[in-house]
Amino acid sequence: MPAPKTLEDTRRFADMVAAKQGWTVNPDAEFTGTLVEGLTTNWNRYGYYLCPCRDTEGSREADASVLCPCRYARADVAEHGHCFCALFLRPDFAAAGREVQGIPDRRSSG
Ligand code: SF4
Repeated sequence: MPAPKTLEDTRRFADMVAAKQGWTVNPDAEFTGTLVEGLTTNWNRYGYYLCPCRDTEGSREADASVLCPCRYARADVAEHGHCFCALFLRPDFAAAGREVQGIPDRRSSG
């Protein structure tokens, strides 16, 4: 099992992912804090950053498509302005202060 992560570690991870992908971390601090907590819990439970909005299918291999940043995030951010969890936003969507919405989970559609 890899070393445990702290909330600060995970927050840094989220900032790094956003910087690398050209996304913005959701500026709603409370909302983002809950997701960072979820990611941290998942890391410390499973040993990988399972998406905090999805359930494990039992192994890292089975969950491969939903390791954060998930395989669907790029398309979701482009189409909807944010990823499924709304941890990551498209910069123009964030700048406009738009509200995040529930979006379909691409994982279930394959
Ligand atoms: S929807 Fe994807 S990118 Fe967003 S938090 Fe979950 S795994 Fe990460």
